[in-house]
Amino acid sequence: MEPIMNRMSQRVFQRLYRTSMLPRRTHSGCAEHTNVSASTYSKRTLLVSRLYQPSNLRDVGQDSRLQGEVTSKSQKLMQQAGLIHPSNPGCYYYLPVLVRSMEKLVRLIDQEMQVIGGQKLDMPSLCSAELWKTSERWDLMGKELFRLKDRHGADYCLGPTHEEAVTTLVAHQATLSYRQLPLLLYQITRKFRDEPKPKFGLLRGREFYMKDMYSFDASEEAAHETYESVCQAYTRLFARLGLRCVQVQADSGNIGGKLSHEFQLPADIGEDRLLICGHCSFSANVETMSSDTTDCPQCKTGTLVESKGIEVGHTFYLGKKYSHIFSASFSNAQNKSDIAEMGCYGLGVTRILAAALEVLSTEERIRWPGLLAPYQVCVLPPKKGSKVEDAAVLAEELVHTLGETRPHLRGEVVLDDRTQMTIGKRLKDASRLGYPYVIVVGPRALEETPTFEVICQEKDETMFLSKDGLLDLLGRVETV
Ligand code: ATP
Ligand code: MG
Repeated sequence: MEPIMNRMSQRVFQRLYRTSMLPRRTHSGCAEHTNVSASTYSKRTLLVSRLYQPSNLRDVGQDSRLQGEVTSKSQKLMQQAGLIHPSNPGCYYYLPVLVRSMEKLVRLIDQEMQVIGGQKLDMPSLCSAELWKTSERWDLMGKELFRLKDRHGADYCLGPTHEEAVTTLVAHQATLSYRQLPLLLYQITRKFRDEPKPKFGLLRGREFYMKDMYSFDASEEAAHETYESVCQAYTRLFARLGLRCVQVQADSGNIGGKLSHEFQLPADIGEDRLLICGHCSFSANVETMSSDTTDCPQCKTGTLVESKGIEVGHTFYLGKKYSHIFSASFSNAQNKSDIAEMGCYGLGVTRILAAALEVLSTEERIRWPGLLAPYQVCVLPPKKGSKVEDAAVLAEELVHTLGETRPHLRGEVVLDDRTQMTIGKRLKDASRLGYPYVIVVGPRALEETPTFEVICQEKDETMFLSKDGLLDLLGRVETV
């Protein structure tokens, strides 16, 4: 039996009917569901109690699965909040809440790569040794390459990067015309590297996500233009994430090639040492400079200051190194065959997530780049049994109105239904997870004009807003 409603509930009930938020009777006359008690939430409501977010509050440093792995702030925060779970050194389960964030980052990267003409593909992770022997990297990569044999005894590796694979693919197309260039192919896939020291959680894993793009151009000049447009796309991406990123001259390592830049997020945990000019835009990885340099080689007046950085992206102009080896050619304007000019461009997808938390979070509280927050809004109904318990129904109403009237927030609003816990405790959890907006439905929600407490976590600001004011504020939240 339904309990008899008290007067307060009746008022709320009437208001809900006026705003038509409750399930209507169907034309057959049956109610779809008639229970309006605050504890029964509609199936569509995302409830905090249902999120698979196994938090691991054990001391991360003592976790035997990490076998002495050096930890970092982002790793501890992610593990404690149930975003990742260690599996074996350098390998993690990415749990549902983190996957939401990662999918947003992927959408953002897709947008920026496609604006400059990138076409997404997906290449096999199982790469034949033949290709890697042809480029001579089978030996060069040494122990970093995960090697395996198939049942016929043929050698393979798990792809750490895909220059060989993509160049072979393009080489197989006999009819590639200069009119189709520049050709920009990219993928966002797992990469495998047997790192000597996996550490810092997602910052340095043995299995991680990378966006790798490869460009094919008709001339060196065109290849440089493509190179420049990719660098600009990277700069735009980090600006949209609200992350300060510096583009530094870099060493091109064993990928080969002549021109190379790294995209670095300045942070103390970073493993790269950068020299940044205080006077002009010059910045370089120390690896590219003679060790005692302090004067800026570009403006000659500035002094170079050292800082540490996390490498989140790397661009290389490759010239004809791989296209020559694998015969990736196109037919030029004179209808003659010509070898393509190449570039390759990496972004560490999972590393960007961790690096963003390193620079934005405190030791206790996760702060996300706004666009990447797993959920934008968390609504807190009052504690069960409290004087203002009746406002609970308004909390659910709010969640629905947001979903109905603000389509970009569909799936972005969670309701913390753990009403056995005080508002204070749940606020603490919400602050730890870093929802950009936390809405407390408290006593003022029951006033004649309901008012909600809104905490904007990024700015550490609290506001009291009417429902309209709230819808207006959240209507302007950018999502991806
Ligand atoms: P590092 O110097 O940090 O080992 P790298 O120069 O070997 O990186 P690249 O081959 O340039 O890496 O790979 C492209 C991008 O992939 C890097 O800029 C980085 O963001 C990411 N990345 C590389 N190695 C890892 C790893 N072990 N874990 C997570 N991300 C990685
Ligand atoms: Mg690199």
